[in-house]
Amino acid sequence: MIKKTYLLSPGPTPLPEEVLAAAAVPLIHHRTPEFSSLYLEVTEGLKSVFLTGQDVFILACSGTGAMEAAVVNILSPGDRVVSVSGGKFGERWAHICRAYGLDVREIVLEWGRDFPKEKLAAELGACPGAKAVFVTLSETSTGALFDIRGYGEVVSKTEALLVVDGISGLGAAPCPMDDWNVDVLISASQKSFMAPPGLAYIALSRKAWSRAEKASLPRYYFDLRKARQSLAEGTSPWTPAISLIVQQKKALDRIKNMGLERLIEHHRILGEAVRAGVRGLRLELFAERPGNVLTAVKVPPGLDGRALVKVMQSKYGAHIAGGQEAYKGKIIRLAHLGYMGGFDALTALSALEMTLSELGHPHPAGDGLRAAQDILKEKWT
Ligand SMILES: *Cc1c(COP(=O)(O)O)cnc(C)c1O
Repeated sequence: MIKKTYLLSPGPTPLPEEVLAAAAVPLIHHRTPEFSSLYLEVTEGLKSVFLTGQDVFILACSGTGAMEAAVVNILSPGDRVVSVSGGKFGERWAHICRAYGLDVREIVLEWGRDFPKEKLAAELGACPGAKAVFVTLSETSTGALFDIRGYGEVVSKTEALLVVDGISGLGAAPCPMDDWNVDVLISASQKSFMAPPGLAYIALSRKAWSRAEKASLPRYYFDLRKARQSLAEGTSPWTPAISLIVQQKKALDRIKNMGLERLIEHHRILGEAVRAGVRGLRLELFAERPGNVLTAVKVPPGLDGRALVKVMQSKYGAHIAGGQEAYKGKIIRLAHLGYMGGFDALTALSALEMTLSELGHPHPAGDGLRAAQDILKEKWT
């Protein structure tokens, strides 16, 4: 058969046709009025996804760069911070904070577990003087969605800043920065923003800015004071990733035309359909509080999860993600993120079912697809 591949991973995600085509336009120089107006339009577009009145800055790096930018801009050596590690990406906050010599109280959750706001309140109470709380909106290694609104209620009553990794979640799950009292929100281009990897986004609340003025961790490339000054002049302090910004503009046009609420609703429908499909195959969900960005599925006993992912990729061209770290081979992750539609969800479920057959794992034939289709038929708009 023709080798066709289906990118069904939780980042990078597939690109809309007009975003692909925008990569081929001639380069413009970044110190021109033409670039400035594009740059300002993109930052406005980002603000309408962050739902903030604050500036959103575009950094030339992957998402992790914006995580590091968050840390260095708001903290000083030895500051005490709380970080919630619910998976591989939550852990990254603690790793970055330790690399900068901060005093980290790391709350390590069993992967896939929820962390209710009451527990955060108790942890913060036991950690007086904490300057920041680091959390994740959608933990991409487990599919769990966290209660950012609840954390905002808790943290806003203290002197700590709430820092949220919205890299995979923003645009797919609600996280209105200003309304939910988020102090630092970050995201990146290659997930729900439907652009290639290479750009990261960050915004600071007023409370975070007043800290950023005085914070004394070393910073240079990611010094957001420089970014703010340049943005006021319609530009960036360093050479921006011009082509990626051109592509992000195209993707933001699509998001704007669709509207953020409908984009979130789209992810909700796909999430519901995939969860129904997984249950239809008599498989179990991994996350206690699953979000609509991706669905992590427990690999049933007796089945090798690595082989499952490998067969799906090599035989059927369906690029789903496996488990990470200790969960390698134990879970699989089906993304429904960014430019993926209802039939992409069905492709993933269908390839999964065919692979289960291939590996000799008994399952009710067709029940997964039928359950997912029932949801899609009812909710497709
Ligand atoms: C993808 C992702 C990251 C990592 O971003 P990079 O772009 O690979 O640096 C961090 N956090 C979450 C939640 C992610 O999904």
